[in-house]
Amino acid sequence: MKEDKMPSRRETIRKLLQGAGFLGLGGLTWGAYVDEAKSAELILRPPGAISEEDFVKACVKCGECVIACPYDTLKLAEPGDRKPVGTPFFEPRKIACEMCPDIPCVPVCPSGALDVNLVSSVKEKNKETMLDINTAKMGIAVIDTSTCIAYWGIQCDICYRACPLMDEAIELKYERNERTGKHAFLKPVVNNEVCTGCGLCEHACVTEKSAIKVLPLSIILGKVGSHYIKGWDEDDEKRMEENDVEEDENMDKALDYLNSDWKDIVDE
Ligand code: SF4
Ligand code: SF4
Repeated sequence: MKEDKMPSRRETIRKLLQGAGFLGLGGLTWGAYVDEAKSAELILRPPGAISEEDFVKACVKCGECVIACPYDTLKLAEPGDRKPVGTPFFEPRKIACEMCPDIPCVPVCPSGALDVNLVSSVKEKNKETMLDINTAKMGIAVIDTSTCIAYWGIQCDICYRACPLMDEAIELKYERNERTGKHAFLKPVVNNEVCTGCGLCEHACVTEKSAIKVLPLSIILGKVGSHYIKGWDEDDEKRMEENDVEEDENMDKALDYLNSDWKDIVDE
């Protein structure tokens, strides 16, 4: 951490927190204050953040994570940001998360809003659980293929190269360009399971408004529902045996539908 900026950042955060109380809200209406006190769906939290609903309840707005971040990535929401006031967030297009290997922002959190267990993994070598920023899930990058110029056939691999998990979180998919007949597309494709949501790709994108953006998991990920069973997945099989399957009137329909499809395929 750069020592010279510590006092001013602490001071800034102190002032911000003083300003975050009800009496200091100035022009903000009560409605807006209530709005800003609630969890926000489109907000990106620091690594290790627990679910947004629990995060807003747990975070004590101390700003320790913001102070610990050596890149000034994290900010505390101010009145008017339309985010829960005093809670930390980041905007990758401005400053992305640099994915520090020692993740200084997480262990300093005194409230459990940032949980080291959510950014840790067991190391093969010594079987010890260690901090691992690659397991962070701050969000998932999504590509607007209508404005990504690589999807137009123009050569660009900036987001791919900016990714700290190049070839794992983001790959370039080769495709023949049928329009010209002699060129190829190299299209970036994000792997949801590996992407940490650091936003370095969004920050680096060359288009006027980034064609690749990190969105929170709650927005990106769908939910299948427990009545769908993957017959090829051991965990799902176990779940079925243990009857951990919701009683759902759609379940029979779903299984019938899948079974009839399979039957048709086998019959053919
Ligand atoms: S991991 Fe990201 S948010 Fe945390 S301190 Fe490093 S740059 Fe800042
Ligand atoms: S250190 Fe934890 S409690 Fe303090 S502002 Fe950051 S997330 Fe909230």
